[in-house]
Amino acid sequence: MASLRCRRDPCGVICLILTYFSVFYADYVVIQYVLIPTYSGSVWCTLHGSVFNLILLLLLACHSKAVFSDPGMVPLPDTAIDFSDLRSQSSRMNERGCEGWTVCSRCETYRPPRAHHCRVCQRCIRRMDHHCPWINNCVGELNQKYFIQFLFYTGMASLYSMVLVVSAWVWRIRNERGGDAEKDGEETPSKHLIVAHYIILLVESVLFGVFVMVIFYDQLVSIITDETPIEQMRNRLMIKDRGSSSSSASSSSSQLPHHPSHTRKPKLALLREVFGRGSIFCWLLPLHSSPPSVGGITYSALPDYDV
Ligand SMILES: [Zn+2]
Ligand SMILES: [Zn+2]
Repeated sequence: MASLRCRRDPCGVICLILTYFSVFYADYVVIQYVLIPTYSGSVWCTLHGSVFNLILLLLLACHSKAVFSDPGMVPLPDTAIDFSDLRSQSSRMNERGCEGWTVCSRCETYRPPRAHHCRVCQRCIRRMDHHCPWINNCVGELNQKYFIQFLFYTGMASLYSMVLVVSAWVWRIRNERGGDAEKDGEETPSKHLIVAHYIILLVESVLFGVFVMVIFYDQLVSIITDETPIEQMRNRLMIKDRGSSSSSASSSSSQLPHHPSHTRKPKLALLREVFGRGSIFCWLLPLHSSPPSVGGITYSALPDYDV
């Protein structure tokens, strides 16, 4: 039910439609108005067409994996859990090696460390990064890899289409100067249409290109520093709190057990936790890989604890 509610998010649905429309529009303009007129009869037409469509295919594959994959939803308990004796339960949980597990007051379930509640999905998500309307899903422990791959291929497609459009435009201007001036009168309407398509595609590519590059950079920084944006914000607030009122800090710490800042893991190990153990080439493919932190472990609604 929660996942269905997430899919019905109007903002997410509009962003999904906009994404698919932008991809198909870019493909249409590149083939119809860039490659066919500019490189017709040349091997470059087939080559650029194949490479561009391969990038779009990978982009859509990563996007659908990010959209339809489970981001790492914490399962709900089959029966309601009694949280009335929460303090003694949590101390016993810690004794049994369940440190960092917290209780979500909205889901009414136990959640593992670094899980956060998403208000759109209405579920707790393991190592939640943020809720992204462009994939109409949360970005969490299990689908962050696909999300980053989607950003990567969107950036590549934007850059590639910019290069193709600019080179086709330059070619067109040179050709016009080259002596086809008498045909100008006949081609005027289509020429305007072509230029309009070029401008729209350039604007689309620049906007999406810059947007995904910024998010791509943020994602890599959050992986390398082992801190999600939620944790960054919470840690900043905690530092601020400590600065302003050091005396009251101890009372709130029981509510928000923070992720230890931070395990000094090597950057490559942190990247492998997201992208899997395969070679770097596999990191670019939307293939399933079990990251080391998840390998073999299946999270149940309850930690190993006698109720
Ligand atoms: Zn929750
Ligand atoms: Zn969400």
